[in-house]
Amino acid sequence: MSGFAFDPCDKCEQMMQPYLDRVLTDVELAEAESHLGGCDYCARRYRFEEDFRRFVRQAVAVPMPPELKEKLRALRTPL
Ligand SMILES: [Zn+2]
Repeated sequence: MSGFAFDPCDKCEQMMQPYLDRVLTDVELAEAESHLGGCDYCARRYRFEEDFRRFVRQAVAVPMPPELKEKLRALRTPL
């Protein structure tokens, strides 16, 4: 393999928020989805972020326990 100038996962991560906000262009969306189809790591991250957003929406009225917040923060930190 040669010419691996950038990390596709890096780009994929940059697209995560706009992806979840549904503001990507068709081209970017296709790019993100084709990467997610082949990359377990990013697929898991996207799924987690989606769950996280859903959880945040449901939990507006309920404060998150500190240990759960810590767990989520750890999961969100790239290795
Ligand atoms: Zn990836």
